[in-house]
Amino acid sequence: MTYIHQTITDLKQSSPAQCEFYQAVEEVLESLEPLLETSKRYQKHAIIQRIVEPERQIMFRVPWVDDNGNVQVNKGYRVEFNSALGPYKGGLRFHPSVNASIIKFLGFEQIFKNALTGLPIGGGKGGANFDPKGRSDNEIMRFCQSYMNELYRHIGPTTDVPAGDIGVGAREIGYMFGQYKRLTGRYEGVLTGKSLLWGGSLARKEATGYGTVYFAQYMLEAQGSSLKGKKCLVSGAGNVAIYAIEKLLELGATPVSCSDSRGTIFHEQGIDLELIKDIKEVRRLSLEEYMRVHSDAIYTPSGEYPEDGHAVWRFNADAAFPCATQNELTGEDAQVLLANGCTLVSEGANMPSSQAAVEAFIKAQIAYGPGKAANAGGVATSQLEMSQNASMRNWTFEEVDEQLKAIMKNIFTAASNAAQEYGQPNNLVLGANIAGFKRVAEAMIEQGVV
Ligand code: NDP
Repeated sequence: MTYIHQTITDLKQSSPAQCEFYQAVEEVLESLEPLLETSKRYQKHAIIQRIVEPERQIMFRVPWVDDNGNVQVNKGYRVEFNSALGPYKGGLRFHPSVNASIIKFLGFEQIFKNALTGLPIGGGKGGANFDPKGRSDNEIMRFCQSYMNELYRHIGPTTDVPAGDIGVGAREIGYMFGQYKRLTGRYEGVLTGKSLLWGGSLARKEATGYGTVYFAQYMLEAQGSSLKGKKCLVSGAGNVAIYAIEKLLELGATPVSCSDSRGTIFHEQGIDLELIKDIKEVRRLSLEEYMRVHSDAIYTPSGEYPEDGHAVWRFNADAAFPCATQNELTGEDAQVLLANGCTLVSEGANMPSSQAAVEAFIKAQIAYGPGKAANAGGVATSQLEMSQNASMRNWTFEEVDEQLKAIMKNIFTAASNAAQEYGQPNNLVLGANIAGFKRVAEAMIEQGVV
């Protein structure tokens, strides 16, 4: 049994029933094989065994009272995975599917993503198995306050700085910030993704979606091509998807789809961005609402492809931008995309492609930007928000956007150079994992066995 397989076997015993976490670890460790074979120093310092074990995992009860006076109880998490490069940084997810495995996979990915940005941030993630759907504003507030009643003792502007993720946007960050301030009496940059009125950064809301599209642009530029005129499939209809669609439109591409947990919209002439913003950001409704205005679009309810796939990947397109959730693009979906002529995939979501799908993209040698590289624009801009908070300055939208572009370019270059160095120039999964890992591993060695 190889060193890597032994590590995964041990992990399965010490952390049982965490499938998504094993999937993320296996993907990273397998692509590190060429590096680990040539350099024994990582083994000598037990970097692999240390890096797969979070520095700290916090799990707690989140009790709250709903509008009918009933007591509800949820489970809250914060996994502080690795602080070799800086304070723990990573979002909070509120979704019924949240469990220790999902938070650990996200936190693990976050370590390498944050390292790739070149910024001083460590990796962490948190959330709760709370379902915000159908909850009133007051219920959301009470839940956020109760969640912060425990979380506040573990976070701080130089120790752990959470942000948003699925189910956590500016409204939830606002309620949590308010409660943190009340509990501690301190007004400080302890959360990112804040409102522009009180410490937020311009372009943070747009950053993940824009960054994913910039990453795609850099992959295409390296091939002497561009996004202009390309037909693009986008999944999701949340923060990441909406701003990926916005940037695609700005760059002259045609985004033709989006999706939510209930169904998929395909609109051949191009997604109506303002309508999507109104449905999702303002009215918080299902995408089915889109059909009331555009009866020429196609709506496919979820579950139409129960065998092994999703409607959104079944349409012809040049490029795909998965921006919804993990494992939303299966091996079967990947085969259909490739057969339909798709030559680029840039991941806005975290681990949206299953392992079979990733293998298919790499084998087909298409331009494939894995999430930890392609969606790092969000966390990078969160760090820019921390910098602005610490220096008490506010940068313009253009200043932040320019820095975001430069960071995405650096990430692409770092991943691409590492892929070339290890003899697989098209394999940005390998390139991103090796480039991110090296930075964290070297810092861990220099900081001793802690
Ligand atoms: P949001 O909650 O804003 O949006 C998520 C969207 O995905 C919603 O439209 C949701 O539908 C949809 N969705 C969820 N599950 C499914 C499903 N099974 N099938 C189809 N659609 C689904 O989250 P974000 O946009 O912030 O996050 C999306 C992804 O991007 C996540 O993987 C997140 O971890 C990742 N990410 C986010 C960053 C950020 O800055 N926000 C940074 C880096 C990565 P519905 O509206 O019905 O719930």
